[in-house]
This record gives sequence, structure tokens and C-alpha cells, in this order.
Amino acid sequence: MAYINEDDEAKKTRKELQNVEVGPNADPECFLCQAVFDETRDRQRLVVRRDALTITVLNRFPYNNGHVLIAPRCHCGVLHGLTLAEKTALLQEIDRMTALLEKIMTPDGFNIGLNMGQSAGAGLPGHLHWHIVPRWNGDINYMTTIGSAKVIPQSLEALWELLVE
Ligand SMILES: [Zn+2]
Repeated sequence: MAYINEDDEAKKTRKELQNVEVGPNADPECFLCQAVFDETRDRQRLVVRRDALTITVLNRFPYNNGHVLIAPRCHCGVLHGLTLAEKTALLQEIDRMTALLEKIMTPDGFNIGLNMGQSAGAGLPGHLHWHIVPRWNGDINYMTTIGSAKVIPQSLEALWELLVE
């Protein structure tokens, strides 16, 4: 609803969020790079965690409640472009976020996945990111099956506050 009802003020904010000075190997058009280089608006960007090598954000268009994206700080679209330290940090962050989501949302399972390349469904092929999607028994209902629409009961703002806390 927040997306559908987006007013002029919100549209302006979204435009402003895209205006970020990024580093030499980053992509100024990439929302993950923008989030990496602007540490002042984590709430608006839905950034829930950052460390030396990774950044974790809520998916603005979630498949399910609690859907987070975990990415390396560097703008890189292939696994072999990452250092061993980055790969290790990413798996540790996936582990940490899965444990946190399990604690606060008590899902029955998770889908954890990486889409590499446009043909594989990557919405942002230039910057690798792992999806963590909490799953509950029976969370696929008629809306999803017939209407190709997903019902998300919790607002992104409420979830952001829970995870950051
Ligand atoms: Zn990027």
C-alpha cells in the first residue's frame, strides 16, 4: 500500500536517494552501491546491517514477510570476482541473518538463493546478492497460486525496526 500510495514527497525522497557519490569501482545507478556509500539514510534505504565486507537490506518488493538481501560491498556480478574473505563474510552474514529472522519471526524454513545473470532472474545482475526468504507451513495460498500476488502482513518499516533493534 505504501508503494501504491506513494505521494510526491515520497517520490522526491526516492529520487534523492539515488543521488549518491560512489567510489571508483562502484556503479552510481546501483541501489546496493548507493546504500554502501551513503551511510546517513539507512532507514529510508532499508539497510539493516553493514560490516567491512557486506551490506544487508530489506527487499523493497518482498516475496514474503522478512525477505532480506545480503550483498558484498563491492559491485561485482560473478562469484569468482569475490575474494575468499568476501565469500566467507557473506556466508557468515547469511548465517547471522537467518538466525536472527528465526528468532524474531519463527518461520518453519527458509529459501536462500543467488540468481547469477539476467537469464537466471537477477534483477540487478551487476551486483551479487543473496535472497533470504523466510517460509511458513502453508504460506502459499490462493492469492499466490491464482492471482500471482503475495500478501505481506507486516510493513517494511516495522520489520526494519525489529531487525535493527
Ligand atoms: Zn552495485
